[in-house]
Amino acid sequence: MHTRLFIVDDDVHTAYMLCAAVEAIGFDGHVFTRAREFIAQSPGPDDIILLDLKMPDMDGIEVIRILARNKCRATLVLVSGHDKGVLYSAEKLARAHALNVAASLTKPLKIGALQTLVQEITQKRRQKERYQTPQAQLPSVEELRRAIEDQQLVLHYQPQVDLKSGALSGVEALVRWQHPERGLIYPGRFISLAEQNGLIVDLTSQVIELAIEQNRTWQNKGLSTKVSVNISADNITSLTLPEQLSDMFQNQNLDPTMLTFEVTESTLMGELVTSLDVLTRLRMKGFGLSIDDFGTGYSSLSQLHRIPFTELKIDQSFILAMLEDKEARSIVKTCIMLGHELNMKVVAEGVESQEMLDMLTDLGCDIAQGYHIARPMPAERFSTWV
Ligand code: C2E
Ligand code: MG
Ligand code: MG
Repeated sequence: MHTRLFIVDDDVHTAYMLCAAVEAIGFDGHVFTRAREFIAQSPGPDDIILLDLKMPDMDGIEVIRILARNKCRATLVLVSGHDKGVLYSAEKLARAHALNVAASLTKPLKIGALQTLVQEITQKRRQKERYQTPQAQLPSVEELRRAIEDQQLVLHYQPQVDLKSGALSGVEALVRWQHPERGLIYPGRFISLAEQNGLIVDLTSQVIELAIEQNRTWQNKGLSTKVSVNISADNITSLTLPEQLSDMFQNQNLDPTMLTFEVTESTLMGELVTSLDVLTRLRMKGFGLSIDDFGTGYSSLSQLHRIPFTELKIDQSFILAMLEDKEARSIVKTCIMLGHELNMKVVAEGVESQEMLDMLTDLGCDIAQGYHIARPMPAERFSTWV
């Protein structure tokens, strides 16, 4: 069956030209020069919608709202003659509505690029369907509970480098689930499951233990490196955590400054008073504290001021967009200034190219982490990488 491609654009000439271009590569094109007529349709999950944001009878933002209300599962490609800022905001809005946005393009469209894009969309969808066979479905709580008991969790480590010296400044420990039948499962598929079912405290303890153990192994090999671990909201509501950790470090004669806890802004939303207490004491015991995915949550600047963070991690969405998007670049620049004013080290994550690395160096960022430097890897591979 051919994929239906809805072209919603008030410019008749452009609309029919695009339609001819996609039909030439086997799509089933449908032109709508009036948004009102288009919204009477009900696009399904296999369809693609090419939506012009500026139309006289109803603008694209309204269409996005209606698609969201109808829980539309089609793939959306946004098109605009406006500047990139508008397009970017529209894309964010659509994503916030949980719509499936594949790309946003500025006019004039290049026919060849559009053809490639829609072909890629259908290919990716087919791959995903293949991938989502029953065995790739989400794991169950029971399975996860057993995995934690049976110690099926492993850590991969992603290097962080100092932008001034180019030297290794630390690693972030990222958890993976080594499932006996399904292979490696990424945290995106099980962390919220653990959080929602009271398993995150056990999961985090195991992660911390693994990280410390690894740290000691490396130290014995003369490779002393700081390690960061991610913690969740439930982890910082336990008032005894700082003492437990501190005792553990003292007993094993370990240096607390070697361990940094990363918390996201949304983690701090919950029980603020308790988390403030716990985080402050962790800091007093000498552990590092990092605010992760900065810029995406809802924390206020005063929270940043109240909690004694040692590090600020700018969310990767800003880094990934910064080369093309002026606003994203301004946000990165501002975060760096803010972090430095508050005496924090600033880390950029999601560094995927040399250009990004160069720009961050120019902007005075301290530390970089991302695929351009290295992907997260198992501990054995890490020592070879170093
Ligand atoms: P995070 O803490 O923000 O970690 C960074 C994520 O970005 C990692 O995904 C990493 O593989 C990915 N990444 C690194 N460099 C690049 C890059 O250049 N480009 C792109 N596109 N991505 C990059 P991962 O390992 O899938 O982890 C996802 C999230 O799961 C983490 O986000 C963290 O919030 C959570 N997580 C991981 N391990 C743990 C854990 O032990 N406990 C808890 N509570 N959460 C964890
Ligand atoms: Mg993190
Ligand atoms: Mg992050």
